[in-house]
Amino acid sequence: MQILVPCIDCLNQGSFDQNLDMVVLTYYSERSVTARCRNGHEITIVLRAQLFEILIESGANALLSGFTLEAAVSFATGLERLYEFAIKVFCEHLQMPKSIYEEMFKHVTRQSERQLGAFLFLYAVVTKSSYALDEKRITERNKFVHRGEIPSPLVAKSFCKKIFEEAGTLVDILNRQCFKSVQRVIADEVESRRKTAPSSRMTAGGPPFFSISTQNRGTFEQNLKALEGTRRLIAERQGSSRSQQISSYV
Ligand SMILES: [Zn+2]
Repeated sequence: MQILVPCIDCLNQGSFDQNLDMVVLTYYSERSVTARCRNGHEITIVLRAQLFEILIESGANALLSGFTLEAAVSFATGLERLYEFAIKVFCEHLQMPKSIYEEMFKHVTRQSERQLGAFLFLYAVVTKSSYALDEKRITERNKFVHRGEIPSPLVAKSFCKKIFEEAGTLVDILNRQCFKSVQRVIADEVESRRKTAPSSRMTAGGPPFFSISTQNRGTFEQNLKALEGTRRLIAERQGSSRSQQISSYV
């Protein structure tokens, strides 16, 4: 997973060149990354993005690259991690002490079915309504995850779109009904990662394909197109860095 960020030191020194001083950062689950700009400044970023957001982004990247099974599995896993995030938000909203939450979560952490059960009941308690679980989508997910069925691009796209829309509806409900708890859960999680990052100087929102913090989320197709554009920019940036390196060797 990659993002393109400006070098803050170059920006502060007034020597920033939009074409040359954007830095490509590659990150994984830990969502903190350190790199150097072409002028040697160290850049460390801790992404605010939650795991479900980057799993969905990772799935979108796989879809654009033609890896349909990887795309479907990443979207499905992203939704499961979103259920986990929602459990945390609901518990925070219900003012459950952290120690009790952690003690309870130990018993469900390894089994997604137990987590789904916990999510469904907490959702009902907080929203006073039942969650519209798409059983067909779960059957489809099991074909990919457990039976290794590789979907066609058309099937994968429709499956991923369904998850994008379900996840969008859920994060909108969380923001509407538990906004303060959403912010607290994100802040706590980012803070715990900042502590383990080598020298965390800034936090960045993270990948824009799917974000709980975005107010006007585009459609699945619009965001896929935008991601395609970002990937092109990153590829161009990496191409120009490589040619700069080659010319400095000659
Ligand atoms: Zn710099």
